[in-house]
Amino acid sequence: MRTLSESGRSRPVYTASMQQEERSTGSTLGLAFAEPGLEQAFREHYDRTYRFFVKLGIGVGTLMFASFGPLDRLLFPNAWEQLWWWRYAFCLPPLLLTFLLLFLVRDHRWVQLVVTLVAVLVGMGTLGMLNDAPPKGYSFFYAGLMLIIFYIHAFVRLRFAWATLASLVIFAGHEYLVWWLRPVFSTADLLAGHAFLLAAVVGGMGTSYSLEKDARSQFLLQRHLDRERKRLETANRELEKLNEKLERLARVDELTGIANRRSFMEQLTRAWRAELRKGREAAPLSLLLVDIDHFKDYNDLYGHPEGDRCLKQVAGILASFARRPRDLAARIGGEEFVLLLPETGLDQALELAQALRTAVMEAGIPHAASSVAPQVTVSVGVASQVPLDARNPESLLQQADQALYRAKREGRNRVVKAD
Ligand code: GH3
Ligand code: MG
Ligand code: MG
Repeated sequence: MRTLSESGRSRPVYTASMQQEERSTGSTLGLAFAEPGLEQAFREHYDRTYRFFVKLGIGVGTLMFASFGPLDRLLFPNAWEQLWWWRYAFCLPPLLLTFLLLFLVRDHRWVQLVVTLVAVLVGMGTLGMLNDAPPKGYSFFYAGLMLIIFYIHAFVRLRFAWATLASLVIFAGHEYLVWWLRPVFSTADLLAGHAFLLAAVVGGMGTSYSLEKDARSQFLLQRHLDRERKRLETANRELEKLNEKLERLARVDELTGIANRRSFMEQLTRAWRAELRKGREAAPLSLLLVDIDHFKDYNDLYGHPEGDRCLKQVAGILASFARRPRDLAARIGGEEFVLLLPETGLDQALELAQALRTAVMEAGIPHAASSVAPQVTVSVGVASQVPLDARNPESLLQQADQALYRAKREGRNRVVKAD
């Protein structure tokens, strides 16, 4: 995560926003985010993430601490009973209780405090043993104290401040012991004891400091990644929506809202192929080609916007005749529409065409410029074919077109079937 900058100094290479967050760690030693919400989130994240290691640290620590008992007995045949009191009556129950609580209580907020308390307690117990041990046992219990300080700073994942507090309290307890409670240590013992204990505390502090620093960097990185992921997910969703919209736009006639020519051609080919696949079972496919009569004159008389409204109305009527799921009403030209009717024979198609023509008339859209009727009318060409390999869907369209041409020639406002 870190790289050497040109000046040779190690510095984070995160994004600008993360650097900003890191820069805002103005507090002592840089172990607190300036923004309270961020700090709170980090602490929760920390206690949640390291819960397992706290359990492991306390569990293993308890086991180790208890297993030193036989050594007490072996090394100090005259003092072991007193030592065991410290070990098994004073220290062990709180350790076991903490271990149990870590499994039973889900909440994370108490963990740092309780682990600090139990660590101090075990430190005090060990100081008690140091107090009760004969001089030859000093080094044994100093080793114990150093181990405890190591556990506090590394294994049980106390944050730097808590760990430092715990080891400093233990150190203070040690000072009280060696100067006031039992000032019988030799100068050499005092020097050696302080040297080892201080080294342990300083080393421990360095360890927990760097561990927490790393945990903070990792937390920021994780947050950054989570945010990026969310941003990408949102962008993706928007893109999908946009794609759907585009797809829809490509298939829909903008003015009338029914299918457009492209959509109709696709559906015609699809319906044709579906029937072809049925082989001898293939059903006829019918097509109604619908054209508004004297629409140019309509536009000329009423104006283009009114013409558009008329187109919408006719489209609405046409759409109401596409009743089955695979029927399709489409606008394929200026004032030219189709109704595609799969699995429909010629008679049924002619019936529908008449009904449609009547429905348009009955809509009663005034058309004062028409020589056919006082209202808007349509002419319809009807074609019907059973799809065969030898034919193609365009032939159906051509037939309907020829029929429509005849309907126009024969006086408009009528239905004509293809030959
Ligand atoms: P016919 O009875 O022979 O079909 O005569 P027509 O006037 O309907 O036929 P023609 O093909 O000569 O004119 C079609 C007119 O449709 C021409 C154009 O002004 C009009 N038109 C085409 N597209 C639109 C449109 O989107 N909106 C409007 N308002 N008019 C359109
Ligand atoms: Mg026309
Ligand atoms: Mg036309």
